[in-house]
Amino acid sequence: MSIQNIMVIGAGQMGSGIAQVCAQAGYSVVLHDMQEEFVQKGIGIIQKNLNRSVEKGRLDESEKESILSRITASVSLENASNADLVIEAVVENMDVKTQLFKMLDQYAPAHTILASNTSSLPITEIAAATNRPEKVIGMHFMNPVPVMKLVEIIRGLQTADDVYETIESVSKKLQKVPVEVNDFPGFISNRILMPMINEAIFAVYEGVATPEAVDEIMKLGMNHPMGPLTLADFIGLDTCLYIMETLHEGFGDDKYRPCPLLRKYVKAGWLGKKSGRGFYNYGV
Ligand code: NAD
Repeated sequence: MSIQNIMVIGAGQMGSGIAQVCAQAGYSVVLHDMQEEFVQKGIGIIQKNLNRSVEKGRLDESEKESILSRITASVSLENASNADLVIEAVVENMDVKTQLFKMLDQYAPAHTILASNTSSLPITEIAAATNRPEKVIGMHFMNPVPVMKLVEIIRGLQTADDVYETIESVSKKLQKVPVEVNDFPGFISNRILMPMINEAIFAVYEGVATPEAVDEIMKLGMNHPMGPLTLADFIGLDTCLYIMETLHEGFGDDKYRPCPLLRKYVKAGWLGKKSGRGFYNYGV
């Protein structure tokens, strides 16, 4: 299946990065969000990233302009009618995603693949909202998208083999390394990462060590580039809680019980770096 036109839905932190790497790889990209100002904010992030690459000599001015010229803004979902591949990166909420996939199923041509960048929600359930479950797949990019090499590709229960192969080859064209997994809560990345972060939070909750000590031990002792609590603040504590709840509910196993301290911080509005306060204070 040949992919030329890609539509990215959601121009936030992930969607703007996905649109950037697609345009860099030569695809025509439509970047879509609910309002023009959200799309323009996403395009602004891309411009900033590309300017930095020009300053560092990794890109010249004309290459930057041609990458930007391949990105078009959209606030109408009807633009899916030109897409060969749609990559969804809206909020991590099942109702929002299923509503969106239902509409995309109406507007996109029959050959179009519908991919989701969800961090943890079941692809099979998202696919069931459409009449083309065999063409729905998970394409889980890592943050920040232009830097991180991995794309975790999730096969839903009904995802067709040729759809998997197409997405694998698109990922390679984006200069990423695709890794295949099946559809289970948290896939592989968050099934392993989040319980580690949750355990680090339990250690702080039980008074075993301070956040600084936990992070220092994991950095120096395990060679992690970033401690688990710094990473949790970077991801967003609300997102961490949401993923733990998905694991807890999905497996029905108490080993995935979110730490009460994580709940408390989220209830207090301490969401990590984005809100200025999490396990650390960002002085915003
Ligand atoms: P974000 O809040 O930065 O961006 C979400 C964007 O989606 C916003 O611009 C919002 O206006 C838009 N949006 C919401 N509902 C919409 C709709 N119905 N139609 C069109 N646009 C809509 O969020 P993010 O961090 O970019 O996360 C997006 C997705 O990527 C989530 O599913 C998240 O779990 C996943 N993800 C996030 C990370 C991360 O580290 N942040 C990593 C991997 C995957």
